[in-house]
Formats: sequence, structure tokens, C-alpha cells
Amino acid sequence: MLLVQKFGGTSVGTIERISNVARRVAEAKSKGNDVVVVASAMAGETNRLIDLAKSCVTEPDPRELDVLISTGEQVSTALLAMKLTSMGYKARSLQNHQVRLVTDSTFTKAHIKRIDAQKLRNVLKDGSIAIVAGFQGIDEQGDITTLGRGGSDTTAVAIAAALKPYVKSGLVCEIYTDVDGVYTADPNIVPQAKKLKRITFEEMFELASSGAKVLQTRSVLFGMKFDIPIHVRSSFNDSEGTMVVSETNDMESVVVTGISQDKNEAKITVLHVSDRPGIAHSIFAPLAEAEIIVDMIIQSASSQGFTDMSFTVPRGDYKRAMQILQELVNQKKATYVTGDEKIAKVSVVGVGMRTHSGVAAKMFKALADAKINIQMISTSEIKVSVVVNESDMKKAVEVLHKEFELGIER
Ligand code: ADP
Ligand code: ASP
Ligand code: MG
Repeated sequence: MLLVQKFGGTSVGTIERISNVARRVAEAKSKGNDVVVVASAMAGETNRLIDLAKSCVTEPDPRELDVLISTGEQVSTALLAMKLTSMGYKARSLQNHQVRLVTDSTFTKAHIKRIDAQKLRNVLKDGSIAIVAGFQGIDEQGDITTLGRGGSDTTAVAIAAALKPYVKSGLVCEIYTDVDGVYTADPNIVPQAKKLKRITFEEMFELASSGAKVLQTRSVLFGMKFDIPIHVRSSFNDSEGTMVVSETNDMESVVVTGISQDKNEAKITVLHVSDRPGIAHSIFAPLAEAEIIVDMIIQSASSQGFTDMSFTVPRGDYKRAMQILQELVNQKKATYVTGDEKIAKVSVVGVGMRTHSGVAAKMFKALADAKINIQMISTSEIKVSVVVNESDMKKAVEVLHKEFELGIER
């Protein structure tokens, strides 16, 4: 069996924890498995490096930022390999250029293009444990890139996908983290949240893309595309964890599976733009050019040939987006741009929504009863999201968790 075991920052946060991880990896290897480990940087290290860059210059150059922040994973992989070697195991740390995990050149949020499976296969064939640095890649020019925050999850699932064609006896990608699995809501926000035994790729995708950082969204996409069994579990105990799986028929009986929250967006409203063909393009094209991802979009009803347009952008891109849109005002294409950084998005997710109606109505009523004002709404086939004031976020998640009876054991 091939096990790809990914350990998050907290799991490798201290030397003692690295020793624990080494014991877990050694055990998997001793049972006769091939083991590829993907390690994150030690807890807090990536943040420390980002702060260091920002204390040097206000807007660090993305290429240089990636050179800097990719070093965290170099440290943890080397320490883990040392530990395993000292325990008598053959282990080798591998960085981006050695694995040849090739990405595009979008520094700080690069996309994986391909992985050289041969290199990893050679290490495994030699009986060694491959310890791969998560989060980092290399572009076609040989420059260091990173995959976006939480990117080690994606490294792990992508490696599992790259090795899958060569595996004869089973493959699992294990994501070891600081919670026991995927819960009905972030257990650090809702103490009553329940661990899910399994969740579909689609639900996990919607939860991850709307703020549940337990898995990086792109790792779920890789899992879905290449059908990689993903097992989310704790590195601190042997509790059974959560399997991310393809949908089965019985799953639609549960209407809402989980709730997520996201404080990483900001709301922008462009006021009084003329309501004519091409106007949306003139607002969103410059944002797209600046690689700013726009989420929920609402256009208000037109009045006397004019309309207002509200949408959300990642909070980190807020200031740049406001500058870009101010240009529209300067060009007299809009009268005013206003924004709010203190918002939060709360989403309820479940594949059962496909066959059950009334989820949105129930959600809005519960929020109204709790006197929480909804600023924006968006829906997809299996998700309803609302934007609320950031100060209402926690209460909204708790109220909805209760409303949809997610704290009840099933
Ligand atoms: P790692 O460093 O191991 O990658 P992360 O901090 O990225 O860990 O992800 C784990 C965290 O995800 C948990 O500590 C938890 O606060 C958060 N989280 C958010 N939503 C959920 C959820 N539905 N289930 C479990 N954890 C969640
Ligand atoms: N170290 C990186 C981060 O903190 C990648 C990861 O942990 O997955 O975002
Ligand atoms: Mg993570």
C-alpha cells in the first residue's frame, strides 16, 4: 500500500512533535507500506516569515516572498528526515526542485502543472521514506513558487495523484492535522460540532472554498479529479477521522452536512453606474487583470438608467481593488465606490439540498430570529452563503448549527 502522509504545522510544531510524527511514519513503514511524507513548516513559521518580509518592505515582491516563505518547509523536512534516519530508517528530504513539482509562475498562489513521479518512485524503490517539502514548487524558469496558504494539503494530494498510476495495492492520502477530522462546523468556533465519518468531495470543496481551512480547496479538487481517497485525521491520537469520498445514494438524506465561515473577504459597492451592456465588464475586467478573484456579485434593480453593483474580494486584495475602482470614478464611469472590510461570509453546505427545498428560507428565518442582518446572499446547487457583519459571524454559525440540528449524533 502507498501512504501519502501530510503533517500540518501544529503536528510538526516542536521537536517533540516531530519525534511523534517520526514514530507514526516509522510504524507505517514497518508495516510494509511505501510512505511519502509531506511536511508543512513548523507552526507559526510561515506567518513569521511573512511578517519579516513586511517589516522589510510594505509590499514584498512576490517572487522574493516565495523564496523566503518556502524555507519553512525546508527546515521541517530536514528535521524529520534526521529523526527517522537516527531511528534506523532510510529517509530522504526532498525540496521542490528535487521532486520537480512544476507550477506556473503565479508567485504566492501558483498552480501545479506536473510532478515527476519517476524521482519519487526511485526513492521508494530504494526502500526509503520520501519526505517532501509541502507548499513549494518550481516554475519552468527554475524559480521557486508557493501554492497559497495551506498549500501543503495540495502538495500531498497531487503527489498521491501523480503516483496513483504506479500503485498496485491501494493508496490513501492521509492529512494529519490538529483536529480529529472534518466537523459539522469549525470545532474551534462551535464546541458542539460533531465529527463527520465521511463527507463527499463536493461538500468538502464547498466548505473549503467558503472558509473551512481544514483542507485547502485545490487539494479537494485534485482528490475529486483523480479519485484519491483522502483521510483527514489527528496527529495527536488514533481516533478514526473523516474520509472524503465520492457521493453515494444514501447521502442525500442529510440536507445540511456542515457550516463554514470566512473572514477573509471584504465587500465593495460601486454606486450609480449606468445600466447598459458592457458595464459589468468594465468593472470586473481590470480586477481580473490584477488577478483579484471576485466572489458574490449583486446588481441592484435599475433606476433611471443607473444601478449599484456590490461584490466581495479577498480581504488581502481589498486596498488594491479599491484603488483600481477609484479609477472608474475618476473616469466618470461611476459616481462613488465604497467598501467594508469588516464582513464575514457564512455558508451552509449539503448534497441533500439538490433534492430538498427550503434550506435558504430556514436559514434566513434563523438569522432573522437572532436579529442578524443579511447583507448579501448567494447560492449554488449545494450551498447557501450569506454575508453578515463580522461581529455577527460567530453567533450566525452557532444559530445555524442549532437550526439544522448538526450537534445531534446521527
Ligand atoms: P494544518 O496546520 O494541520 O494544515 P489548519 O489550521 O490548516 O491545520 O487546519 C485545521 C483547522 O481547520 C482546525 O484547527 C480548525 O480550526 C479548522 N477548521 C475549519 N473548519 C473546520 C471543520 N469543518 N472541521 C475541522 N476543522 C475545521
Ligand atoms: N506552511 C504553509 C502555510 O502556513 C503551507 C501549509 O501549512 O500548508 O500556509
Ligand atoms: Mg492547513
